Amino acid sequence: MTSAELVEIAPGVLVATHPFCATTTTVVVGADGRECLLVDPAVTAEEIDALAAALAARGLTVTGAFSTHPHWDHLLWRPALGDAPRWATAAGARRALEVTDDNVRKAHEALDGVDTSGMARVVALPAGATALPWSGRACRVVEHAAHAQGHAALLVTDARVLVAGDMLSDVEVPLLDLEAARPWDDYAEALDRFAEIALSIEVVVPGHGTVGDRAELLRRIAADRTYLAALPLDEEPDDPRLAGSADWLLAEHAAARQRVRADLGG
Ligand SMILES: [Zn+2]
Repeated sequence: MTSAELVEIAPGVLVATHPFCATTTTVVVGADGRECLLVDPAVTAEEIDALAAALAARGLTVTGAFSTHPHWDHLLWRPALGDAPRWATAAGARRALEVTDDNVRKAHEALDGVDTSGMARVVALPAGATALPWSGRACRVVEHAAHAQGHAALLVTDARVLVAGDMLSDVEVPLLDLEAARPWDDYAEALDRFAEIALSIEVVVPGHGTVGDRAELLRRIAADRTYLAALPLDEEPDDPRLAGSADWLLAEHAAARQRVRADLGG
């Protein structure tokens, strides 16, 4: 079985990074050292089964899970992980159920070996919930409207780790939710939220990319603001993350630029 190595990036917080789009899986170990919370387990069935085996080998039982947002690569699951509830924000859970068929199709288009059977496996948090109902360790839910409906980052408060979902990446430019009424504003507001709580964060874990410290968090917020500010302009944004990007990401970038230029009259 292929297995991505679990790296402890803060006390009791482990991250595995997978070959597909540098996708991360985050494991939050409970205070008792015997249970854990899984955030966005990924990607292939083989990788997730290997993850389950690695957790078992460490004596960890999955007693909770969280999906940061309702895109297919953040809604994966395997029977080997067990039956723990996988929470999502109320808006995120509603959306995951609305777009299950789409997510299944997109997952199979993206790569082979993906188990899509758990795509609708979500438990909605109460609307506006700011804490996760997991008894293992305190985790704060930081919900916003950028990138996808009902997207939330998870702040492991004692470890000061922000599990960001598809925000604050060093390898992907901001990806706007072009179905939203004001995607550019939503994104800018989410970045403001992260800037406001930056002093509570020592480590940032993006859904795709590499783990960073607070200086890196602030650098990524600044880079994302610069990218957003450049979207309506005539010239292409000068963002190193665009160089060598995959075609799908460049297509999303072009669509965002067109949309923002239309919205803002650029
Ligand atoms: Zn993603």
